[in-house]
Amino acid sequence: MARPVVAIVGRPNVGKSTIFNRLIGDRLAIVEDKPGITRDRIYGVSEWNGKAFSVIDTGGIEIDGEDTILKSIRVQAELAIEEADLIVFMCEAKSGLTNADEEVAQLLFRSGKPVILAINKVDNMKRAEDIYEFYSLGFGDPIGISGSHGTGIGDLLDAVTEKLPEPKDEEYDEDVIRVALIGRPNVGKSSLVNAILGEERVIVSDVAGTTRDAIDTPFERDGQRYVLIDTAGMRKRGKVYETTEKYSVMRAMRAIERADVVLVVINGEEGIIDQDKHIAGYAHDAGKASMFVVNKWDAVEKDDKTMQHFENKIRDHFLFMTYAPVVFLSALTKQRLHKLLPIVQHVAQQHSLRIATHLLNDVVSDAVAINPPPTDKGRRLRINYVTQVAVKPPTVVVFVNDPSLMHFSYERYLENKIRGAFNFEGTPIRIFTRRKS
Ligand code: GDP
Ligand code: GDP
Repeated sequence: MARPVVAIVGRPNVGKSTIFNRLIGDRLAIVEDKPGITRDRIYGVSEWNGKAFSVIDTGGIEIDGEDTILKSIRVQAELAIEEADLIVFMCEAKSGLTNADEEVAQLLFRSGKPVILAINKVDNMKRAEDIYEFYSLGFGDPIGISGSHGTGIGDLLDAVTEKLPEPKDEEYDEDVIRVALIGRPNVGKSSLVNAILGEERVIVSDVAGTTRDAIDTPFERDGQRYVLIDTAGMRKRGKVYETTEKYSVMRAMRAIERADVVLVVINGEEGIIDQDKHIAGYAHDAGKASMFVVNKWDAVEKDDKTMQHFENKIRDHFLFMTYAPVVFLSALTKQRLHKLLPIVQHVAQQHSLRIATHLLNDVVSDAVAINPPPTDKGRRLRINYVTQVAVKPPTVVVFVNDPSLMHFSYERYLENKIRGAFNFEGTPIRIFTRRKS
């Protein structure tokens, strides 16, 4: 089920990133906790009242050529209006209501999107009175919060989860594979879409001001039904916007949430940059099947080792996604294009693979026999049994004597053993450890 997206919008310095950190708390993006990955936080997942949602702080989206602060936040607001399901509009009590706030408020108001008005820096009782002037913005009760003290965050989360739209029912049948192509501008996403569909066609016209509704492109190949998610998004906007990191991540978030299989498209001519990592990291965190598509392979000067070298580079950069297959192709010459869809189909199957409990337990008992869990202060982790509780992605619960004794490295060991036995190519596996006395 697609997680809704919440965007935080507001002037610089009102405290957006402080609140962002508070909202996602210790529920950091999964890939960030793993060794070998360092990155600025771009998005996070939050859960409150049993509802999970992604949060993105639109602050810091610097737009080339947009010199004024007002222009920048206007772009942020437009982006949030297009991409988010709910907007947290943040102002601050300290400086009071400003013209910039009012202007952004009008944009948000006209959009009709659900908006929660949060007034930050309400650090004391006196400040609590300062929030009344924000009623004039027309978003109902402003919620006073303090990023410094952490007060009001629960109220804010209550308001968010209350107004958050229900996750939509899936528009497609179970057997349709939903595919999202993501990647930086100019890696060849739209060329690839055209090549896959086998005809030269314009996916959608660049009509300025059209509201972006996701346009999906369904097709069938060799008896398998697919849908390319959000092909309209690839043609939207000037590419200037998309060169900024947060913009492209945010642009990709919804498509990823709606997909089964994410194609991380990389430009073979250019190699890998951090931005590729962040987008791929989101696919991983969202529990999607994924694969790397190295495009423009026609333009690369090669010898018999070039492919292996490039694949090694991918493995070095994406340590958290060793499971994702790599395909080298050219959307232009259609070289090796025929390899793509069979792999997509394969990883989609792996994504919904269900392993019988007794088989899983056989593998885990063998793993434990070969390499028993380490002891911690004289206590040893004891695994009672293991069971797969979900697919898409495959999710395994390990019942143990004491979950605090399960260490990351041992969990990784078990995951590798499970993969060794059942493969799960192209899909992340989630492992939860629970107490069972
Ligand atoms: P952003 O630019 O909107 O992301 O704002 P930041 O989160 O970077 O915060 C800007 C400044 O405001 C920083 O110096 C924060 O420490 C400070 N700040 C954030 N929240 C609060 C708060 O609740 N009260 C006060 N007094 N300062 C805050
Ligand atoms: P997008 O921004 O990711 O959708 O990228 P486009 O599909 O618009 O492609 C960007 C540029 O790369 C265009 O000039 C394409 O003609 C070119 N391109 C796309 N695929 C290939 C390829 O396989 N080989 C070569 N040499 N160029 C390509």
